[in-house]
Amino acid sequence: MYNCGPTVYDWQHIGNLYSYIVADVVRRTFEYFGFEVKQVMNITDVGHTVDDVDEAEDKMEIAAKRERKDPLDLAATYTKQFIVDRHKLNILDPEVMPKATDHIPQMIELIQRLLDKGNAYVAADGVYFDITTFPGYGTRLNAEPPDERKAGARVEVNANKRHPFDFALWRAAKPNDLQQWDSPWGRGNPGWHIECSAMSMKYLGETFDIHSGGEDHLFPHHECEIAQSEAATGKRFVDYWMHVRFLRVEGQGMHKSIGNTYLLSQIEEWGYDPLAFRLLALGSGYRKPLDFTRAGMDAAQSRLERWRRTIAAAYTATGGKTTEPEPDFGVRAGFTSALAEDFNTPKALAAAEMALELAGTDDVATRERALWLLFDMDRVFGLSLQESAATKEELTEEARRLVHEREDARRAGDYAKSDRLRVELLERHGIQVKDTKDGTRWERVAPRERDHGRV
Ligand SMILES: [Zn+2]
Repeated sequence: MYNCGPTVYDWQHIGNLYSYIVADVVRRTFEYFGFEVKQVMNITDVGHTVDDVDEAEDKMEIAAKRERKDPLDLAATYTKQFIVDRHKLNILDPEVMPKATDHIPQMIELIQRLLDKGNAYVAADGVYFDITTFPGYGTRLNAEPPDERKAGARVEVNANKRHPFDFALWRAAKPNDLQQWDSPWGRGNPGWHIECSAMSMKYLGETFDIHSGGEDHLFPHHECEIAQSEAATGKRFVDYWMHVRFLRVEGQGMHKSIGNTYLLSQIEEWGYDPLAFRLLALGSGYRKPLDFTRAGMDAAQSRLERWRRTIAAAYTATGGKTTEPEPDFGVRAGFTSALAEDFNTPKALAAAEMALELAGTDDVATRERALWLLFDMDRVFGLSLQESAATKEELTEEARRLVHEREDARRAGDYAKSDRLRVELLERHGIQVKDTKDGTRWERVAPRERDHGRV
């Protein structure tokens, strides 16, 4: 799967992050069902004009001048922060995160292919895709035809284009452009759309399964990707397109002018756990806009805390033991069928609530099964439920470090070290570690029992 990645000329707000939470849930769902997923997400660190008006100055350029930085330094800063935010939200890393600036030759090659086939033409200010050579341009994703869509919208009159909707594949460099490369058509920089076609096809082949993006990518970005990719290869480009609806803040769209383009760090400053935002997103479902409100975040935060309390209590009661339930056990089927039904996460959360109820009962065997289910579901939810259960048991920082160090030593086959750490954990911290077929478990032991553990 290919996810349209961020243009790293600014901080990524929670609306951007939301669309990557959805992509993450899709990936995790497929993996949960046993598929092998190769996930690619690009980093756009070049070009990309303001409002997609080809003639305008590009976003990287404006930001670089604003911050008096080299565009690549700027991109590195914002990329780093984006990854930090993703990790806070438990969004798994894609297998490949290609940067546009590393793939200029692939873009040039693709543009050349389009020129050779007669789908593109060289003009005074760059290379354009000729939309009249691709019947159905702009209507492949069941959207209204571009003429209607663009009625009233600005279409810049550009005498260099043969048709007003022709889009730029390559833009000739202007004298002060900070980012420019050599090409067969002179120095310049690539159009935004060609980046995604070139990089997705390089890593996933000329036809691949899933391509995702925000609803704003429907047109022109994804329609342009389809036109130029299929014109070049003569093959179907993508089997499934997925578009995430926007996040709305207190019923309004996000706009810099309103001042509601919130960042994850701001949400944290307000006292919310980033994972409460993830839970809010899971509770919405990707086909309708996510309603971000303070009341909604309060509810998500207390829901998360309630889950953690219940799980921690059950975890303590079972001594950290979980048991895989029978396939027909209560809520299990409800969870899998919800996900199989177009990634219906609100319904999947409802199944988790039922498991949580079971985790809150007095019967230890039921609790063990409920815990197993919750941790299993969390492979898709990504709410760190297992970690929060263990944390509530109050393992000290030092003990946690030793447990991990011992696990690493054991995995590496350094049994002398792992034994030494096991004894240290027992004697100094009262923690008994056990190696089971499901991995390492630990539990607290009463002081008088500790001698039995010493070998
Ligand atoms: Zn893209």
